[in-house]
Order: sequence, then structure tokens, then C-alpha cells
Amino acid sequence: MKKRENKPTWHAETQAIRIQSERTSHMEHSGPMYLTSSFCYDDAEAMRAAFADETDAFIYTRFSNPTVEEFIDRMRALEGAEAGFATASGMSAVFASFMAFLKTGDHLVSSSSIFGSTHTVITKFLPKWGIEHSYFDLTKPETVEALIKPNTKMIFVETPSNPGLDLVDLEVLAQIAKKHKVILNVDNCFATPALQRPIELGVDLVTHSATKWIDGQGRVLGGIVLGRKELVDEVYAFCRSTGPSMSPFNAWVLSRSLETLHVRMERHSASALKLAQALETNGHLEWVKYPFLPSHPQYAIAQKQMLAGGGIVCFELKGGLERGQRFLDKLELLSLTANLGDSRSIASHPASTTHAKLSEAERVKVGITPGLIRISVGLEHVDDIIRDITQALENSK
Ligand SMILES: *Cc1c(COP(=O)(O)O)cnc(C)c1O
Repeated sequence: MKKRENKPTWHAETQAIRIQSERTSHMEHSGPMYLTSSFCYDDAEAMRAAFADETDAFIYTRFSNPTVEEFIDRMRALEGAEAGFATASGMSAVFASFMAFLKTGDHLVSSSSIFGSTHTVITKFLPKWGIEHSYFDLTKPETVEALIKPNTKMIFVETPSNPGLDLVDLEVLAQIAKKHKVILNVDNCFATPALQRPIELGVDLVTHSATKWIDGQGRVLGGIVLGRKELVDEVYAFCRSTGPSMSPFNAWVLSRSLETLHVRMERHSASALKLAQALETNGHLEWVKYPFLPSHPQYAIAQKQMLAGGGIVCFELKGGLERGQRFLDKLELLSLTANLGDSRSIASHPASTTHAKLSEAERVKVGITPGLIRISVGLEHVDDIIRDITQALENSK
């Protein structure tokens, strides 16, 4: 299928709006949704050629689908990537990016501040296939080189990390990865390509949970792996046979979301900065963390590689675990829910929820302190968000 004309000189945000699958004879304006499991052929020869990879004809939606391709093409433009493969969730993207390149006897270097399920994959499942790992402190990239062994195949990081908002200089890591010929794989979920483009900084693979800021309204799950074609071909080969493909319905929803990604991230970031600034002097808090606050330990890195600080603000309540739960109970506007990256602001308390099964010592190791609160700043009026958090702090003493 021919793509609608797309000018490479357009800015990425224009391409994210204008890249579209070919207009059909109905002359629709918005891209159609191709909810079909498989595709037809005029004759046996056309079918033979499709299966022999001699044509670009679609075969089966587990492999590829025009609506899913539209989402991939928009994401490729946004990340500056040669190729991509879209998956059913962020975790299937992370898992596929591991399985495509790691085999028994290989070694993965990862930062310890990573998403909880990624930590579970690395520590509980990869060892079942004899794939070992070493963790490093994301804020100490100078310790990475000493961990690289002859069997190291990949370095995996999140920046900013979930939920601790630690950052790492991606150019520094890219130099280390190149020197040792290992793949640098970055989960760009928190920043999104609207604020940070890892491939331009020398990163090999970008993985995403599209469920968060990319969807932006808490509706559908999705994920994607992007990078050079030779790398994405390996991810495709794994996914084509194992089946974690993205649904065309979710791809259609997510493509519409990409049309507003830049304006949304601008507003999320502006409100988050305002909230962080307002909370910095609040007497109920031990500290406030936000990448674009000069008090952030890696403020210089944030300024260098991000266009804005993103929509997540973290703070530590005085009064620890119990205060954290009392604080959540006093919120009137913010939602208590497991998601983030929504138009509706969300508060979460990792120590009593996502990380409750870890011991306190284990939690501290991954940066989860007892009174840590993570705010996903939504698109409501920022004064209402600030007022709700301030009153909940006042009333949870
Ligand atoms: C949520 C999340 C994931 C997993 O994504 P799902 O879409 O929930 O599978 C991976 N990485 C980060 C940083 C996340 O926040």
C-alpha cells in the first residue's frame, strides 16, 4: 500500500500529524482503521509472491497491518528511527527487545532504577534461560565500564527513571556502548520523543510503553521498539512468530494521540514545573524532585538532553509510610490509580502499593523511600492541582 506523501523536510511534530496510510476511494480525512486479521490476494501467484517476501503486500495482522504501520511510521518520524515494531504493551516491547538479542550465556547490564515489571523480567525470567545481569546505579555511569564482560550484549536504562526520576547522560553511555560493541537500549517512556530523542544521542534501540504519555488518556495499552533496520528486523522475527503484536484498534487510537503529543507534553511539563516550584518551600516535605528544578542532582543533564522536564513530580513526605497513605486519602481531585501519563492528574505511593512486596532495604536500593509520592501531572488547571495537593498535605498531618 502506498503511503500518503510525506515531506522529509517537515518537522517531526508535523509528520506525526500528517503521516497517514493511503487515502481510499472514499476520500476519508482521518485515517481508516483496518480491523482485519488477514489480507486477500487476486490470485495464487500474488499470494505466493507475498509469502516469498517479493512484495510489500500485507499477509496477517500478527506480522503487520496498515493501521499499525501508520502508528509505527509516525513514531519513526518522532524518534528519528529507521524502523520500528509495535507491540501489545510496553512490557512486551521491553521483553521482545531482550529476547531478540540475548541468548543463554549472555549478560545484560541494566540500571537498578527501572520499572517494576522490567526488574521482574531481568531477575526472575531471564535467569531461566541462563541470561545473567549486573545492575548499576543510574547516577554513576562511570561504574558501567567495569561491569562489561566479554559476554555482555546490551546496556538497558530508563531516563528519567520510574518512579525515582534519576537521569543519565545518554551520550556518555552511547560512547561506552560503542567502544565495547554492545547494544544501548533506552526506555524513553517518561520523556517521550516530544522531549528527548535518544537515537540522535547515539542510542541503538528505543523502547516505549505507549500506554502512558503517548496514549495520554488512559485508554489503551501499547508498546514499540525502534532503531536501525538491521536491529528491528531481529525484534520483528521474534514477534512475528511469538505474537505480541499491537491490535489495529489500539494503533488507531494511539496514532490520533500522537497528533497532540507535542502540545500535551508542553502543557504537562509547564504545569509539573509550576507544581514542583510551589512545593519546594512546603514545610510538610523532605524534598521535591523534578528534572527541570535546579535542585535536581542531574539538572545539568536534564538541560542538555531534554526539551522540558516531563509530567512527573516526586516528593518525600515527612512522616513516612503512614503519612503517605493519609495523604492519598485526603486528595479530592487527583485519582488514585496505577497508571500515569493521563489528562487526569494521578497520585501514587509506591511503598504501600507497587513496591509493597519488597523489604524496606530492597526499596531503598531502588530509590523507593517510605514517604515517596509520585504525581503524574494532568491537563487540569494547574492551580486546582496545586490547591488539591497543598490541602491534602495540610490535612494529613
Ligand atoms: C508502564 C511502564 C512500562 C510497561 O508498560 P505497559 O504498557 O504497562 O506494559 C515500561 N516502562 C516504563 C518506564 C513504564 O512506566
